[in-house]
Amino acid sequence: MRVFSGSLATETNTFAPMPTGLASFRARGYYAAGQHPDHMTLFSGPLWAARLRSKDKGWTLIEGMVAGAQPSGTTTRHAYETLRAELLADLKQALPVDMVLLGLHGAMVADGYDDCEGDLLQHVRAIVGPDVVLGAELDPHNHLTPLMTASADILIAFKEYPHTDVLERAFELVDLCEATVQKRIRPVAAVVDCGMIALFHTSRQPARGFVDRMQALEGKDGILSVSLTHGFPWGDVPEMGTKVLVYADGDAARAQQLARQLADEVIAMREQLSPPSPGIDAALDEALAVAGGPVVVADGADNPGGGAASDSTFILRRMVERGITNAAIGPIWDPAAVRIASEAGTGARLMLRIGGKVSVLSGEPLDLEVTVKALHQDLMQTGLSNTPTSMGESVLVESGGIEILLCTVRNQAMGSDLFTRAGCDLAGKKIVVVKSSQHFHASYSKIAAHVIYADAPGSVARDLNTLPYRKARRTLWPLDATAR
Ligand SMILES: [Zn+2]
Repeated sequence: MRVFSGSLATETNTFAPMPTGLASFRARGYYAAGQHPDHMTLFSGPLWAARLRSKDKGWTLIEGMVAGAQPSGTTTRHAYETLRAELLADLKQALPVDMVLLGLHGAMVADGYDDCEGDLLQHVRAIVGPDVVLGAELDPHNHLTPLMTASADILIAFKEYPHTDVLERAFELVDLCEATVQKRIRPVAAVVDCGMIALFHTSRQPARGFVDRMQALEGKDGILSVSLTHGFPWGDVPEMGTKVLVYADGDAARAQQLARQLADEVIAMREQLSPPSPGIDAALDEALAVAGGPVVVADGADNPGGGAASDSTFILRRMVERGITNAAIGPIWDPAAVRIASEAGTGARLMLRIGGKVSVLSGEPLDLEVTVKALHQDLMQTGLSNTPTSMGESVLVESGGIEILLCTVRNQAMGSDLFTRAGCDLAGKKIVVVKSSQHFHASYSKIAAHVIYADAPGSVARDLNTLPYRKARRTLWPLDATAR
């Protein structure tokens, strides 16, 4: 068996202020063919699973380019076309192959390309022809277009949010693709559009139970795989929305019937999916009222994992103005502040302008007198599915009882070791504000006395009715009265 694997992934927030160019891929993770490191990265699940399977099964694995960028604004045409050309050239070099396994996101948008993954899968199909098995792993925050499902044999999305199951889903993809090559199965897809857009935090009900039911349905009665496309509401494209994807073994009617049934379940639970999201002051009041700590407050609107700059000051400003102490906040992406604090050195006390630099969605910068507590040449944290994640050069500064973690590589808070490695003791804090929508939850829920999803301004605003959609279909719950 000859297997090709590679990756091209980012999640595009078409409302976010910063473009995604080649430097964004190099900063997060770009590996030319054959250069992938000896650990899994967030979108190299298929490559990593194929590496492990190849050792057991004696396959020949040809590893192509792996490139993933931190979510941001629209990808430049140059970046997309350059990386697409590199991956396709790697594939051509690897031919002949029996199967192609790709790590994609599913919500990548580039100048001139509303559906990068559909375009990429179509190009791959054109190169390998109809008989080579083509599979891809997706993030559930994808747009699942008809071109994507038509071009691939199997698409499997992570089921968990936080995305803790990258490797499990990748193994399923590799194994189902192998069975398809061996003609033991014949996957046929059905997609049902739920006519809605929602957040599915699988850390609590009702989404938890739904994921458990999806998994219980797989591997029996001819059902090969079930995926839920959550959709990504900050990507303004025609196909944005929540969908159910089912693969059955040779039985299109069975796939369709189950997809419809599950879509109806999703529609029935939609009013119960979103957590309470108090405004900034209400969130801080709620946190201060909790006995003990730490209370973790999520600033999802400034989550770099959703395309935000991660330098907004809205919550920090209110903490300073209210005199809140015994608190921590981060990671704030501010390379200039890191440079200045690092030049001053550990123990230095100085005026530092923090955050509020990228756009109006970041708020105004804060000028604070800070003490530099710790410097780190390359601060690491444990990322999703245990993938090591670099924050680049980082500093921990303190001002008025608030410890502020500043970084030079945009990444959201995922492992609580982000703070502890930086020298910030979270256990003793009353309030910890994290720049993250939900991925923080896998790790921080273990140390949190309470978790609050705050509603602050930003590029990943929770109130979707504030977003100026131009391309997304209307009649989409909850955006339109007619869809209610
Ligand atoms: Zn996601």
